[in-house]
Amino acid sequence: MTMKMIILGRQGAGKGTQAARLSTHYGIPHISTGDMLRAAVEAGTELGQMAKSIMDAGDLVPDKVMNGIVAERLAEPDAAHGFLLDGFPRSDAQARFLTETLAPAGIDLVISLEVPDAIVVERMLARGRADDTEEAIRRRLDLYEAETAPLMDYYRERDRLVSVDGHGDEDEVEARLTAAIDAHLGAVDGK
Ligand code: ADP
Repeated sequence: MTMKMIILGRQGAGKGTQAARLSTHYGIPHISTGDMLRAAVEAGTELGQMAKSIMDAGDLVPDKVMNGIVAERLAEPDAAHGFLLDGFPRSDAQARFLTETLAPAGIDLVISLEVPDAIVVERMLARGRADDTEEAIRRRLDLYEAETAPLMDYYRERDRLVSVDGHGDEDEVEARLTAAIDAHLGAVDGK
């Protein structure tokens, strides 16, 4: 059985934290495009230099670039039987590339971590990352509604979407996530 999963959720929903925990829990790599881009910025690579101003403004790095980065990462042996994608796909073009080229055998599960607006803005301002200015936050939330939220309909129609409440402390949310994932994957297996 493969465990190819995507975690969706608005910025500040606690997605990164929970994705890292799920990666440990299930023994699958956590593939965060935001982390990969920040590492490239830090290392001063060509990609990093290109991405920095886009990220600081809260805009999206071009699909072609992102598709290339993720294709390379998913070709690594540790991702052969499962992975947890965090931050990708973020647009319709990325979702199509994932379905048609990167994971033609299918994505097993898409998790949507749900947290209300007011809380995500508060959490983002508190973490103080370089791109966490009010303006960039607003831009990212707008882009999320416009580009990423519609992807949920696509996966919902294919019975692959599980929504999980992101309220509460980290242990509580993790327990809710693993229960939802196990129930869904168990049902698919016919157990
Ligand atoms: P957040 O969830 O707060 O937006 P991320 O770490 O997921 O943080 O992403 C940070 C930034 O990296 C984004 O605002 C965007 O500029 C860029 N980025 C990350 N993933 C993608 C992607 N799949 N497509 C385009 N840009 C991306």
